[in-house]
Amino acid sequence: MAETAKILCPQKTVLIPDLDAGCTLADDCPADEFAEFRNKHPNHFVISYINCTAAVKAQSDLICTSSNAVDLVKQIPKDRPILFAPDQNLGKWVQKKSGRKLTCWPGRCIVHETFNEEALIKLKLKYPEAETIAHPECPTNLLDLSDFIGSTSKLLKQTEKSQATTFIVLTEPGILHQMRIQMPDKTFIEVPGIDGCSCNACPYMRLNTLEKLLACLETMQPQINLEETVRLKAVKPIENMLRMSK
Ligand code: SF4
Repeated sequence: MAETAKILCPQKTVLIPDLDAGCTLADDCPADEFAEFRNKHPNHFVISYINCTAAVKAQSDLICTSSNAVDLVKQIPKDRPILFAPDQNLGKWVQKKSGRKLTCWPGRCIVHETFNEEALIKLKLKYPEAETIAHPECPTNLLDLSDFIGSTSKLLKQTEKSQATTFIVLTEPGILHQMRIQMPDKTFIEVPGIDGCSCNACPYMRLNTLEKLLACLETMQPQINLEETVRLKAVKPIENMLRMSK
């Protein structure tokens, strides 16, 4: 996301508290391997989820978020086959919702892959009145057990407007803090990871601590900088997304 800010606002200073605060989706899709993948699929329209590197964005025709991915895919000309990167779980869900066939890059989010299906079923049996809400980065077996699927912002809205008072939440647990603040009278239940661990807390996001935030504001380091040739290519699919999302 810090790179996206720099792509859109090259004249501004973009700081990030920890340069290692990346994302498995970006790490799983190296630009050179993605270029080979594209070469094996000529004439494909390339749509990439915003959680990818600037170098992968630069090889894409269109960027999407989990909020707008289905709507954007529906707008891609019907005569063009489609490549979707880097999250294959999101890609499979978008394929189902849009009715368009997608060839997916095999990336995944380590957080959403980690939820334990058996633990989810036990929670659903224990709280039969609860609504299960999930982010589409979750694998299909978990999405099939969910009552509502949507981006983080849509999950938050769903917890506000739903009649349910108890929610089983399948996404990065940081959002539960926001849900509990906005709806203190409702109950939000986390699903444990495989083997009952808490590995479903994103280790990348948690690298950005308050101490590092203070240090980066004091030193104005580290900064995000991009090669201008990459930035110029990467800005086009983002602009396409903004134009097509209107
Ligand atoms: S939860 Fe972490 S690993 Fe997963 S998409 Fe978000 S930043 Fe990437």
